[in-house]
Amino acid sequence: MKIGILALQGAFIEHQYMLEKLGVETVQVRLAEHLLGLDGLIIPGGESTTIGKLAVDFHILEDLRQFGKEHPVWGTCAGAIFLSKDIHRNQPLLGLMDITTARNAFGRQVDSFETSLDVPVLVKNGSKPAPFPAVFIRAPLIESVGEGVQVLATLPGNRIVAAREGQWLVTSFHPELTNDDRFHRYFMEMISSK
Ligand code: GLN
Repeated sequence: MKIGILALQGAFIEHQYMLEKLGVETVQVRLAEHLLGLDGLIIPGGESTTIGKLAVDFHILEDLRQFGKEHPVWGTCAGAIFLSKDIHRNQPLLGLMDITTARNAFGRQVDSFETSLDVPVLVKNGSKPAPFPAVFIRAPLIESVGEGVQVLATLPGNRIVAAREGQWLVTSFHPELTNDDRFHRYFMEMISSK
């Protein structure tokens, strides 16, 4: 299995380390040709406006969109914004996933936080999964989801922070900044079962 990590800006190295620990071959994606032969792609956290601008400048936006139509893609934080169809403002997006996302929904950098999250799909051997340590850094909130979208995790008040639509996965938080590799494994399963 070979997974690419969009490496224009943001926390791509952390995803790479996590995948390498899991024995996955990784590629840092900056140009369209880096997408060749990949089984899936991770779009990291960072700054979605910057990632979008660089994707335009590097002429890779349309290639990323095409890749995403055919392969599993996981967006964390800014990556989740980048995958969304609607974010209430105009900036370059892949616009693939049928979700509406609000940027910086929890406030500023100082309002970043960590919390334990119930994520039922991380179940193993039928037993209730341990809570996932979710790190939120100027995180977006998934305000609403379309019909084909499965909600994977919410914060109190039914605030959606993880969702899946077929081959696309989004998390508002940063699993790559923890020692918990279950979301990376979950994404690998999405790739294997495609
Ligand atoms: N606030 C950033 C944005 O709007 C996302 C922050 C993050 O990825 N940690 O793109």
